Amino acid sequence: MDKKLPEVEKIACDICRREVPLSEAKTPEAMDYVAHFCGLECYTKWQQDSEKADKQGEADKK
Ligand SMILES: [Zn+2]
Repeated sequence: MDKKLPEVEKIACDICRREVPLSEAKTPEAMDYVAHFCGLECYTKWQQDSEKADKQGEADKK
């Protein structure tokens, strides 16, 4: 509707907590929850961490 927004919405990177404009944030697709990253570097780091966490979580359940 409104093409111009009065302020740029910002979110904090899930890894380094740096604030970035929502439009520039990287968000993983097909995720159960929404995560935001300032760039591919943090996104990749988060992916690696979450993969490890998944494996640990499965091991804990059994
Ligand atoms: Zn970051």
